[in-house]
Amino acid sequence: MVEMSKEILFSRVAIQKRVKEIASQISKDYAGRELVVIGILKGAFIFMADLVREISVPCRIDFARLASYGTGSESSGKVVMTKDIETSIKDRDILIVEDIVDTGLTLQYLVDWLKERNPRSLKTCVFLDKRKRRKISFEANYVGFTIDDGFVVGYGLDFNEQFRFSPDIYIINTN
Ligand code: 5GP
Repeated sequence: MVEMSKEILFSRVAIQKRVKEIASQISKDYAGRELVVIGILKGAFIFMADLVREISVPCRIDFARLASYGTGSESSGKVVMTKDIETSIKDRDILIVEDIVDTGLTLQYLVDWLKERNPRSLKTCVFLDKRKRRKISFEANYVGFTIDDGFVVGYGLDFNEQFRFSPDIYIINTN
């Protein structure tokens, strides 16, 4: 039985405010350029949709799908790509958008995979950062909020496909 905590970790108002701040920073950093924004399915789809609507430079979008969590809340530790991007990224400015970075393995895998294709630049943007849980050293270039341990849902993030569509972010007790 999954219980949702009574306390919202980030409200929809706080989320939208932070998304605008990140988008404004990205728009400044890429002024005069065109971005290829790559979202990691499924979790990043809501954050990415909000973000690209606030970014003022032209964006192309694409998606990759990577899996490490089978079901439940424990990572298998092994990353598998189940859908590659379809856009040519050679000599382009790439921004990978992810819902949350935890061990760092998923993003590092995609960064290494895409670097092989010689983009002009490649940066990462995560909405949530569980810094203390890294298994490798990985730093995202843009971070929404840094959080402690605890399993979060909402704003695209699920637990067994539940809670993705909550506009607010919660911590749940998965025991
Ligand atoms: P990493 O490879 O950095 O360990 O994990 C990244 C992936 O793990 C994320 O894309 C996300 O799918 C999943 N993940 C890590 N922590 C959480 C969490 O607290 N809640 C949810 N729903 N997924 C998480």
